[in-house]
Amino acid sequence: MSKRVVILTGGVGGAKLVLGLMQIMPAERITAIVNTGDDFEHLGLAISPDLDTLLYTLSGKANAAQGWGRDGESWQFMDALKSLGGEDWFLLGDGDMALHVLRTRLLATGNPLSAVTARFAKAWGVDIAMLPMTDDPVATHLTTDEGDLPFQHYFVARRCAPKVQAIRFEGADHASPAPGVLEAIAEADAILIAPSNPWLSVDPLLAVPGIRTALETAKAPIVAVSPIVGGQAVKGPTAKLMSELGLGITNTSIAAHYNGVIDGLLVDMRDGDEDLSLSHMVTDTLMQTLDDRARVAQAALDLAARLAS
Ligand code: GDP
Repeated sequence: MSKRVVILTGGVGGAKLVLGLMQIMPAERITAIVNTGDDFEHLGLAISPDLDTLLYTLSGKANAAQGWGRDGESWQFMDALKSLGGEDWFLLGDGDMALHVLRTRLLATGNPLSAVTARFAKAWGVDIAMLPMTDDPVATHLTTDEGDLPFQHYFVARRCAPKVQAIRFEGADHASPAPGVLEAIAEADAILIAPSNPWLSVDPLLAVPGIRTALETAKAPIVAVSPIVGGQAVKGPTAKLMSELGLGITNTSIAAHYNGVIDGLLVDMRDGDEDLSLSHMVTDTLMQTLDDRARVAQAALDLAARLAS
């Protein structure tokens, strides 16, 4: 029987590693625990950007070049909305809309987000267990030089331009881990943290009461893949955010951030000469091709196996 692997993940960076894992082990043995701090309601619809990125990526529907949304998407809904003077800062493609409409409907009729997510994954042939971190509402907010901004206003409407002073996860204190989250962590043979943004994608997960403790007491080794490649983030606001928070864009900062949670860090060869105080392995962590994704996933599991032995 192959090992059971749990991976904590946000959207794009995380989906790359989950897809890599699926190339090297049976999907049924993988549980992805996904950030929902980016979730928000827009035009009356319940939108879960990181869950959707995983659904699209793992079912082969993602627009990889664009970095979000569906491949071959059409935009009639958005065009009509704009012509009526509707809000157009958050783009919703026609196919994408189906997901949000159905999710909103299912949530409104009493289905928890975890059940809705499992249903969508099954419909699209995604065989991993894909769990939202919680079924309860948690909303990432940023304190910035432009005032308090809900996550999507910072990320999409303001394109990460505001200077971030602090981050909080509204509702996290009262949230419970979604069904299966704590069990998956306890039963895992290896636990990975994807190279997702540690402050915006992984911290919301760690803020849900019970998840951090489950990780601290898990029998499995925990390995994070660093989002830093060559002293920069591959994409997104990670590096900008780190400097605004007064941190060096280094693996020392990433290791310090995950101190007490991780046992090992997979770092990129371009940054391999840093003197880290925790177990680490150096490899090429840039995931451009499907082979790269599989190779980085294998390296993360190799480090976990080394730490277990
Ligand atoms: P989002 O939720 O869609 O913003 O995406 P994530 O939080 O999951 O991932 C964003 C992070 O992934 C960024 O900090 C990137 O540096 C990191 N990332 C993206 N692609 C790669 C890659 O190929 N290798 C590594 N090491 N990190 C990556």
